[in-house]
Amino acid sequence: MAFAEEVKYENCKDAIGILGGVFDPPIDLPVKTASVEEHFQTIINEKQRYHDTKVRECIEGAIDEGNRFVARMMTWCDASDVKAILIIQRTLCQMEQPEGVATLGYRVCPRCGNIDDEALHSLYCPHCMTQQSDFLIFE
Ligand SMILES: [Zn+2]
Repeated sequence: MAFAEEVKYENCKDAIGILGGVFDPPIDLPVKTASVEEHFQTIINEKQRYHDTKVRECIEGAIDEGNRFVARMMTWCDASDVKAILIIQRTLCQMEQPEGVATLGYRVCPRCGNIDDEALHSLYCPHCMTQQSDFLIFE
């Protein structure tokens, strides 16, 4: 997940520069001591909150302005975040009930950071056409 976020971060930074914008790097916040489960739940909550509010506003604003490029980029990032939420939720279930949930991994596109489920994925990345054989697999 961190690898996917890093790839998306670099791509967003490059896109903002190409579009003539100024990239403001994120602010590092101190990380509180917590269990892995608590960190996962924090990530899920933050991604869900971002999905429900900021991303929706950004996509709708870009569509209203006729900027389909930005709308498409934001939609791709949102789709990847939604898949990340599902994979982290599944990982939490596996941690709580190791016998009850099948262990499945995921794969990350090295070019755009798209996340695909290991159980069902397309032949090429639907965002950038990278072959699935080039994806990094995490189990
Ligand atoms: Zn890709």
